[in-house]
Amino acid sequence: MNHLTSLSAAQIAKNVSDGSLKAEEVATAHLSRIKSEDSKVKAFIAVLEEHALKVARQIDSKRAQGKKLGKLAGVPIAIKDNILVKGVETTCASKILKGFMAPYDASIIAKLKEEDAVIIGKTNLDEFAMGSSNENSAFFKTKNPWNLDAVPGGSSGGSAAAVAAKMAPLSLGSDTGGSIRQPAAFCGLVGLKPTYGQVSRYGLIAFASSLDQIGPMARSVEDAALLLSSIAGHDLKDSTSSPQAATHFSGAPLESARGLRIGMPREYFAEGLDPEIRKSVWNAVNFLKTIGAEVKDVSLPHTAYAVATYYIIAPSEAASNLARFDGVRYGHHAQDARSLSELYEKTRGEGFGPEVKRRIMLGTYALSSGYYDAYYNQAQKARTLIAQDFENVFKEVDFLATPTTPTAAFKFGEKSSDPVAMYLSDIFTIPSNLAGNASLSVPCGLTKDHLPIGLQLIAPAFQDEKLLALAATVEKAVNFPQLN
Ligand code: GLN
Repeated sequence: MNHLTSLSAAQIAKNVSDGSLKAEEVATAHLSRIKSEDSKVKAFIAVLEEHALKVARQIDSKRAQGKKLGKLAGVPIAIKDNILVKGVETTCASKILKGFMAPYDASIIAKLKEEDAVIIGKTNLDEFAMGSSNENSAFFKTKNPWNLDAVPGGSSGGSAAAVAAKMAPLSLGSDTGGSIRQPAAFCGLVGLKPTYGQVSRYGLIAFASSLDQIGPMARSVEDAALLLSSIAGHDLKDSTSSPQAATHFSGAPLESARGLRIGMPREYFAEGLDPEIRKSVWNAVNFLKTIGAEVKDVSLPHTAYAVATYYIIAPSEAASNLARFDGVRYGHHAQDARSLSELYEKTRGEGFGPEVKRRIMLGTYALSSGYYDAYYNQAQKARTLIAQDFENVFKEVDFLATPTTPTAAFKFGEKSSDPVAMYLSDIFTIPSNLAGNASLSVPCGLTKDHLPIGLQLIAPAFQDEKLLALAATVEKAVNFPQLN
């Protein structure tokens, strides 16, 4: 195998900046890796070969002219196909957006370009980011590179598979209820859901605006931190982006964990958790104990309500956000409609897949007059209690350690006929979105079937830097293997 595709993003950026490597060579190596691997893995909806080579050559000539290169000099990066890249089709893996050309760059894409990253392709997802396995993509199913019969997770499954299979060293995902962390756990990657407000969402096609966050997926904490440093920061174009948002993250491990208090929320270790995952998570936590951390049993008593709360709030916001796809302004436009309402009906009927329709119906119902108080309002109250659970527990501990998922990657078809079983695979990731804090998944072991296991670490809002440092400390001890 080509060693260029095994390099970390940090190494590529360093070598391209100092002239010991050409951005074009790096792009070519990754494009040929995509050619050999992606017919099996199917991570990409679009490979931007010409664009990537052109940009790589521009970076090389910029350097040849003696100009200083950006933080991601020559680093190929795969972008989830719900983030706008100017002039490139953005589909959200939905038939309704087929043919929609992004008219502008998302703020974070503009930043990546300024940092001399090379956008190499758009990756597959569950339609409109609704799902946990990639089986809801309207186009095709992405496979897990660790085992092609297993799902890569979702909704950022294409972004996860692309990085795990070394078709790119970095990718961007979005996380509304776990869509970065769960596929990161399933594919053996580091995946961070930054604090709500840390990264601009201008140019992310909205799913549930009070929950959505964009974040990095990488094969190491250092690389995730590098990508986060390139995209984080306050953006006036996104009113939910925070002036508190930091712009530099180092991802360096801690020397010692002395003085750190780590909480193990007992609700996350209950029945239904795979024993192999429990053991692997405990091994990581016990290691932190040996280097000085104090480990405490804690409780987040409203955890049991998180999935139900999320499945009222997220569909309600989705029903409202997705109202704009009406066949008039974007993408698919149904033929032969005799009236405006028939145009809406036919376009949406033909364009949206079954899971998206289910969410729109759930959300519309929860928001409808007569049911609003019983569902939407009630869910908002429960959300407040869930957020307060975290506030309370963070008075006692600095971080929480939990499994990212109750099981390792499951097989195709195993949960796709039972939406509730699918929804439950996000039981440990959803609470952080509801609370808006920072959380990530870092690999902590393999099951006996050789599938990755993810450790979830959670920190209070805007402690993303400390969270990455803790993850780097675990990473160093675990020494997780990479795929060849
Ligand atoms: N799997 C969850 C859902 O289907 C979360 C998705 C996400 O984070 N985008 O809603």
